[in-house]
Amino acid sequence: MVKGAGELLGLLRHGRSLTRAEIVAASGLARATVTHRLDALMDHGFVAVTPGRHSTGGRPAEELGLNPARGALLVADIGSSHLRVGIADLAGDLLAVRDHDVEVADGPGDVLALVRDDMAELVEEVGVRPDAVLAAAVGVPGPVEHATGRLVSPPTMPGWDGFDVQEFLRESFNVPVVVDKDANIMALGEQRALHDLVADLLVLKIGMGIGAGIIARGEIMRGSRGAAGDLGHLPREGGARCRCGQFGCAEATAGGWAIAEHLRAHGHPHVRTSSDIVRLAREADPLTVELLQAAGRRVGEAVADAVGLLNPAMVIVGGNLAEAGAPLVDGIRQQIFARSHPLATDGLEVVTSSLGADAGLAGAAQLAADAGLSTARISAVIGANITFD
Ligand SMILES: [Zn+2]
Repeated sequence: MVKGAGELLGLLRHGRSLTRAEIVAASGLARATVTHRLDALMDHGFVAVTPGRHSTGGRPAEELGLNPARGALLVADIGSSHLRVGIADLAGDLLAVRDHDVEVADGPGDVLALVRDDMAELVEEVGVRPDAVLAAAVGVPGPVEHATGRLVSPPTMPGWDGFDVQEFLRESFNVPVVVDKDANIMALGEQRALHDLVADLLVLKIGMGIGAGIIARGEIMRGSRGAAGDLGHLPREGGARCRCGQFGCAEATAGGWAIAEHLRAHGHPHVRTSSDIVRLAREADPLTVELLQAAGRRVGEAVADAVGLLNPAMVIVGGNLAEAGAPLVDGIRQQIFARSHPLATDGLEVVTSSLGADAGLAGAAQLAADAGLSTARISAVIGANITFD
């Protein structure tokens, strides 16, 4: 049962708008109590009247929804070689985005300074009052201990081990800061874009590295130390040496870094990034297509294991390398269906990302909104104007 104003606001998030009667019914509270709390939410600008549903006859009842313009969310998606920083409204829609090439392996100092400066400039650029920023969220390419926001032994970015990203940004903006693994924010972005219709999904991030975000029953599954979904470093016997030090990881043959290394050694000396590989694939370069097909099969093997364990309703193939399309994705799909028990693949959809490069920032905005619009935060903002029971 819904209690306070924060919970009532929760009913109006995720693009929902409801009539007062629907809010009363969903909350289980008395009409007078709901009116009192909605008035407080409207006085503070969190809730506004939205255009009503189309009705064929009669006057449509007035509907209320979250007011996305009430505040802003700061978001960043730090990849191993690329950084995106953005600002979003409270519905999670991106208002402005900046892109940079970075070397995340060089350590947190320069990269996070860039994130902080970009965020501060974006607040000015879109004309948001600094005190209207309600929360921030950052995705990083390594496992994160969720409770503290600290990175845990990230295999490919040693300088970041134990670094407190949360504290670094909280000092600058004085808002709640959420830090999560890049594949997790991407998975949340994809899931919310499906309007929460799919509760169990596996989202692959295939770029220079390989990772996966697992959504189970609508929630990110992080594991005890934040290392869940690390598909790229599940080893198989007899493979090449990986950048993490193990032998036979999926990344060692299927990661963008491994494909780029191979291409550089075989007639394509200038290949550095995922986009370089995608460009060669689009030109139908035979070696690139062959490497991507092999990568698809190798990733597909690992994904088939995950599908057997988790039984998702959907596998979404995302990340920069997924833009290479068929050579990579066909192999993944084929291996999943060839290697999984029919029970696990019954009704399973394997699709490419609909959000593309925006998936990470979109998911970060959702995580930030969850933190900035949490029941506790809303109660604190609305404060003494309202009693909670
Ligand atoms: Zn590895």
